[in-house]
Amino acid sequence: MNYNNNSINYKSFVLFEKDLSSKNISSIYLTDSSKIRVQLKNGTTYETDNPRTPDAKETFLRSGINVIESYPVNSRQAYPITLMVISAVSIIIMSLRSSERASKRVFSLDSLDATAVEDSSYNFKNVAGNEEAKESVKDVVDFLKNPEKYASYGARMPKGIMLYGQPGTGKTLLAKAVAGEANVPFYAVSGSDFIQVYVGVGASRIRQLFKKARNSSQGKAVIFIDEIDAIGKKRAASNSSGGSDERDQTLNALLTEMSGFNEKEGIIVIAATNRLDMLDPALLRPGRFDRHIEITLPDIASREKIIDLHLKNKPTGNIDIHEWAQKTSYFSGAKIENLINEAAIIACKENSETIENMHMDKAFSIVLAGYEKKNRAYIRDVDRKITAYHEVGHALASLKILPNEKISKITIIPSTKGAGGYTLSIPEDKLYENKDYLKRRIMVLLGGRAAEEVIFGPNYITTGARNDLQRSTNIAFNMITQYGMGKTLGLLNMQELYDLNINQDEIIKECKKLMDSIYGEVKNIIIENRHCLKRITELLLEKETLYSVDLDNLKLSTTLK
Ligand code: ADP
Ligand code: ZN
Repeated sequence: MNYNNNSINYKSFVLFEKDLSSKNISSIYLTDSSKIRVQLKNGTTYETDNPRTPDAKETFLRSGINVIESYPVNSRQAYPITLMVISAVSIIIMSLRSSERASKRVFSLDSLDATAVEDSSYNFKNVAGNEEAKESVKDVVDFLKNPEKYASYGARMPKGIMLYGQPGTGKTLLAKAVAGEANVPFYAVSGSDFIQVYVGVGASRIRQLFKKARNSSQGKAVIFIDEIDAIGKKRAASNSSGGSDERDQTLNALLTEMSGFNEKEGIIVIAATNRLDMLDPALLRPGRFDRHIEITLPDIASREKIIDLHLKNKPTGNIDIHEWAQKTSYFSGAKIENLINEAAIIACKENSETIENMHMDKAFSIVLAGYEKKNRAYIRDVDRKITAYHEVGHALASLKILPNEKISKITIIPSTKGAGGYTLSIPEDKLYENKDYLKRRIMVLLGGRAAEEVIFGPNYITTGARNDLQRSTNIAFNMITQYGMGKTLGLLNMQELYDLNINQDEIIKECKKLMDSIYGEVKNIIIENRHCLKRITELLLEKETLYSVDLDNLKLSTTLK
C-alpha cells in the first residue's frame, strides 16, 4: 500500500540482501515505516521491506553502511516558498493535533502530488485468487483499451469502481493490475492525504489530480483513491465544524470532476474502503462509484495461490504449500506476504541457502504474536467448527425444505454478508410469497441455530444466530400482524389498529408459538439428517467455501431424509 513514493523503485528483500552481501549499499534510511529506502554506491535508490528486526541497524553498520534514522529529503522537488510555508504551518497544526501522526504526515506531504506510474509489470497474474473480483473488472480493462468502441455502441461504462473489504486483501493490487493490464498510467492517492490541510487545498488537489490524468500521454488513466472514507464519510446531521467543511469541499470537487469527464475519455476512478456502509450515499450514486466490488479474505484455495505466488521468486526448500494454506485461515493476502517475507529474513539470518519449513514455522509464531493475542490459534479452530456447523445447518434446511432454491455458496470466510460465514441461495422468482413459503424461510433461517444445538448441546448455542433471529422474528411478526396469516388478529391489519390500543401480549405470544413450532420442525430435520450435516461440514472445514457443484458431488439427494 505504498504509493507515496511512486517514483521510487521497489526491490524485493532477497535482492536487497544480495546488494547487502556484495557491499553495494552506501546508505539506508531506517525508520519505523513499512519500507526502508536504500541508496547504492552507484547513486541509484530503491525501497525494500523493512525487516523491523531489533538488530537491523547493527547489521547494516557492521557492513559499513551509513544508517540514517529519518526519512530521506526529496531532492528532486524544490519547493516554492509558499508551499514551504503551508507545509510548515500544517506541520505545526498537525503536531498540535497528534504528535504521533505528525511524523508520517511530514513524509507524505512532500509527495502529495501524485505522480503516475506506468508500471505495466502489474497484471492480473499478480493478484492470486479474488477470481470474482477480477472477473468484475475485466470489461473495464477492455474499455480502457478501447473507449471509443464502447462509446460507439452507446455503452456507458462505470466512471468509478468502489472496492471494499478488509485491509490487506489486495484492493490496491487489483487497481494497479487494472492499469497494468490496460497499459495506462496509474495515479494513486490516499483519502487521508486530502484532509488536515488548509481549507480549499484538498479540493484544488483533486482538480490537479484529474488534470494530470487527463493530460497524461494517452489521455487515459486509472486514478486510485485509497481510504476514500477519509473524504467521503457519511455526513453527520449536526456537523458544522471547520474540518468537515474542508471534507465537503474535497468531496464536492471529486464528484464534480467525476461528472466532468465523458464516456469517451478513458479515465476510471477506483476507490477503496474498508467500510462501504460508512460512505456518503452521494458517492455511490449512478454516474459516480456505481460499481461496488467486495474483496473478501482469501479462502484456502486462494491462500494456496497467494503463497505459491509469493514463494515463486524466492529460493525455497521443502515447503508444503497446501499445509500452509490450511494453517493460515483468516489471513489476508498482506498477512501471508508478511509471513513469507519474515521467513525469508529468518532464512537469510541463518545463512540457509533456501527458505525451509522450519523458517516458515518460526515466522508463523512471530506473525501470529504480532497480530493477535495468545491462544487465538486454538480459539480459531473451535470458532471455525461452530461457524461451519451453523452455516451447514442453514444449507441443509434449505436443501430439504426449499429444494428449488439453488445454494450457490456456503463459506466460513467472514465478509460483509456475515461476520462468521454465510450461505447464499438463489430464491425462485415469484410475485407473491405464500404462508407455507414464509414458514419455510423461517425454518431455513433457524437452521443455523438448530444445528448448533443439535451438535454442541443446548448450553453451547452461540450469539452467531442473532441476525437470523432478527430476520425470522420480522417475518413471523409480519405474518401475524400485516398479512392476515395469524389467529389473534385474523384478517385485521395491525398498522390500521394502532390507535385502538390493542393488546400486544397476545400477538407476541402467538409469534413465539409460531417460531417455537417452526424451530422444533427444523431441529427434527437436522437430527434426522445428522450424518449429512457432518459430511457437508467436514468438507466445508476442509475447503472453507463450497459451491453448488461441491454439493452436487456429494450426491446428497439419495441420503437426505
Ligand atoms: P489493500 O489495498 O486491500 O489494503 P494491498 O493491495 O495493499 O491491500 O495488499 C498488500 C500486499 O499484500 C500486496 O502488495 C501483496 O503483496 C499482498 N496481497 C494481498 N492480496 C493479494 C493477492 N490476492 N494476491 C497476491 N498478493 C496479495
Ligand atoms: Zn445464520
